[in-house]
Amino acid sequence: MTEQNKMIANDSASVTQHDDRVKEMYCEECANHGDGYSTAVAFCVDCVEYKCVTCLKYHKRETQTHIIQDRKKMPQSFYFEKCSTHPQQLIKFYCSVCSKEACQICKDNEHVNCRDVNHLSTLASGIQKSKDFKDLQQNLDKLYADIKDTEKLLNVKSEVVDKQEEKATETCKEHKDKLFKAFKQLHQDLIEDFNMKMKETIERLKKERLELVEELSEKDRKFKNKITKAETDMKEQVASTNTNFKVLRSEHLYLVKNLKVLTSDLDQAKKLGQNCELFIKLQLAKQMCETLTTKY
Ligand SMILES: [Zn+2]
Ligand SMILES: [Zn+2]
Ligand SMILES: [Zn+2]
Ligand SMILES: [Zn+2]
Repeated sequence: MTEQNKMIANDSASVTQHDDRVKEMYCEECANHGDGYSTAVAFCVDCVEYKCVTCLKYHKRETQTHIIQDRKKMPQSFYFEKCSTHPQQLIKFYCSVCSKEACQICKDNEHVNCRDVNHLSTLASGIQKSKDFKDLQQNLDKLYADIKDTEKLLNVKSEVVDKQEEKATETCKEHKDKLFKAFKQLHQDLIEDFNMKMKETIERLKKERLELVEELSEKDRKFKNKITKAETDMKEQVASTNTNFKVLRSEHLYLVKNLKVLTSDLDQAKKLGQNCELFIKLQLAKQMCETLTTKY
């Protein structure tokens, strides 16, 4: 294990022995020839392959011009993922043109015309010190700071919005209460107004009734008086007529009686020839006849 990877391994308790970063790179040549796993001690830049001590020794003999990186200089970020299309092959390359990972077979087949296909571990080795990574980190830091600011701003705004909402709800409630109260008062007033009018109308009708009763009573009294007076007048008239009649009758009877006596006296005086007597009686009879003729 390299110093760097040991450092990473000890860095966090969560990093286990199964973590790819703590695995030792093995000799690809041995692995490809089915000779099991041997610890890699160097990397051939030209062949893009890690080599064990033995394979490196023979490789140096065969290919003296190949650039070899020793254990300290060889790419340290090992990637143990296998190709999804070729499960036996390690993913060793990255094509920047296609933005895709590739194994050796993929590289030879799909990216043969791509200009920018590089060894993934070599690309990754300087990543932490690279400008791209630093820029990205800076951007991320800035973005994070922006997000924090935005979050703060949102929190403040959220508080404002909450307060506004609270206030709006309160205002709405107040307004609603006021409206309900006013509406209720209006109805109450209308009912009271009606009650007042009803009371006044009843009072007026009672007064009118009283006046009518009084008026009718007065008329009744006057009518009774009139009738009573008429009755009395008639009775008096009848009584008076009766009295006059009785007086007249008695006078008549008296006159008739006197006339009979006089007639008898006249007959007597005629029979006896008493002419002076006859003369006087004749004058009396004439007067009596005159009286009876004018009166009756
Ligand atoms: Zn080997
Ligand atoms: Zn080589
Ligand atoms: Zn592949
Ligand atoms: Zn490509």
